[in-house]
Amino acid sequence: MSGKKRIYVIEDEPDIRALLRQVLEGYGYRVTPLANGRDARQAIRREPPDLCLVDLGLPDMDGLTLVRELWEDVRFGVIILTGRGGVSDRVLGLELGADDYIVKPFDPRELVARVNSVIRRRDQLACAAGAALSTRAGFAEWVFDSGNLTLSATDGRQEVLTAAEASLLLTLLKAPKRILSREQLQGEDMERDDLPFDRSIDVRISRIRKKIEADPKAPRLIKTVYGAGYLFAADVCWL
Ligand code: CA
Repeated sequence: MSGKKRIYVIEDEPDIRALLRQVLEGYGYRVTPLANGRDARQAIRREPPDLCLVDLGLPDMDGLTLVRELWEDVRFGVIILTGRGGVSDRVLGLELGADDYIVKPFDPRELVARVNSVIRRRDQLACAAGAALSTRAGFAEWVFDSGNLTLSATDGRQEVLTAAEASLLLTLLKAPKRILSREQLQGEDMERDDLPFDRSIDVRISRIRKKIEADPKAPRLIKTVYGAGYLFAADVCWL
C-alpha cells in the first residue's frame, strides 16, 4: 500500500533482464536486475524485495535451489521464469512454494498481470493477517482506530465518530468493495434509534461522509448503490 514495490529480476540473459526491467519500471515498480544466484543471495540478505522473478537456468546454480532457499523467507513472493516448459519443472517449482510460473518466451503484458496479481494477493494476505488482531484500519488518507473512535488523516486532521457511526464504518471496512444492504449495515444499537431503520442508516452514512470524504456530495469512499445499499470503494489495510 505504501511506496513503490521492489522487484529483483534474477536472470542471466542480458536482453531478457533489460526487457523485464523496462517493462516493470514502466508499471511503477523499482527493479533491481541481478545476473546470477550469488549476487541475488547477497542482495536479498541486504534488503529483501517484495517479489523475486527467478530464471531457473542460472550460470552458477540451479534456479530451483535458489527458489527453495528463497521460500524459507516468507516476506516476499517468487515467480519462476524459465525456458524449460517441462511439466515436472513447473510442478516442482510450485511445490517448492513459488507463487507463479512463467514460460519463455512470454508476453510482457501477461507477465506484468501475473506480477501485479502476486503482489496484490500477498498484500491482501498481510492485511487479512492483521485484521484478526488489529483495531486500526488504514484507507485512502485515513487511519481509523476503533479503540478510541478516532479518524486520523495523513495531514494531521482528526475526526471523532459517535459509537453508532464507528460501528457502521467498521462494518464497511470489514467488507471493502462489496455491496452491503441496509439490513447488513444495521448494528445492534440500531433499535435505540427513533428514526425509521432505512433512514437512520442513510443519516449515519451522510455524517460519516462529511468527516472522511473530500466532497461529501460526490463521495469516492462510501458509494451509494441505488436499490441495493452501500459499498466501501477503497482498499483497506488492518494495521
Ligand atoms: Ca538462463
